Amino acid sequence: MLRNRLLLFVSCLVIVVVSAESAFDFFTFSQQWAPSVCIDVSSEHQCGIPEAVTGWTVHGLWPNSRSGKEPSDCNSSWPFDFDKIKSLETNLTAQWPNLFTDTAKNDFWSHEWDKHGTCATSLPATDNEFKYFSAALQLNKKLDLQQVLKTFDVIPSKSTGYKVTEVSDLLKKYFGSTPVMRCSYQKATKRQFFMEIEICVDKSFKLMDCDSKLLSAQANLTQAEECQSSEITYLYPLPTANSNKKH
Ligand code: 5GP
Repeated sequence: MLRNRLLLFVSCLVIVVVSAESAFDFFTFSQQWAPSVCIDVSSEHQCGIPEAVTGWTVHGLWPNSRSGKEPSDCNSSWPFDFDKIKSLETNLTAQWPNLFTDTAKNDFWSHEWDKHGTCATSLPATDNEFKYFSAALQLNKKLDLQQVLKTFDVIPSKSTGYKVTEVSDLLKKYFGSTPVMRCSYQKATKRQFFMEIEICVDKSFKLMDCDSKLLSAQANLTQAEECQSSEITYLYPLPTANSNKKH
């Protein structure tokens, strides 16, 4: 009898701990500009942009919490299974590619599922691997950053620079919500490049303002990774051909 009660108590405790760890209020949807990512990781990884990539690609769809701590790695007993998203492979390669060519093709998806996807399963719209990756692909299509920026004449260029405040304001005007911009920094040229745009959505995938202070604190950024509004920041064009070499 006592043993049964103890078992029940322990089970309840486990459920409370697991659900507390995976509780979340909104998503941070992060999209990245591949050429800038390749600059950012040039000393650590071989980087290449698949030919199918035509715009900003997904970095991740991250369940997040207003209380400060971003949930992560919520269920180690639900490992990534590529077969569950095999039917999405063509779209994933174009919209959510692993740019690090020195790592296995599935590594990025596996990392994102383990760290973030397992924390989104309390929501019916993202309660399994297929739905989670599909939701991110849909957001990437809907929030086509390259197209949006183009409407404001912000186009990838090696020579034209844009102020981060200007670009951020344009996106705010277009989406009606505040995004967060991240940059990569190239020591040799002392230049910053637009690398990532984070857009926040609620649990119905409606756009909402991102709390930049909260997101920056969670990301634990160095000063170089924060986009400096006073600096001119450049977007690089995507290479037209597949490049599996180091950038
Ligand atoms: P997070 O762990 O916050 O979901 O994502 C951060 C990690 O994603 C960083 O280690 C960053 O280097 C990595 N990352 C960004 N783009 C890619 C990519 O294309 N492929 C892989 N394998 N990792 C990436």
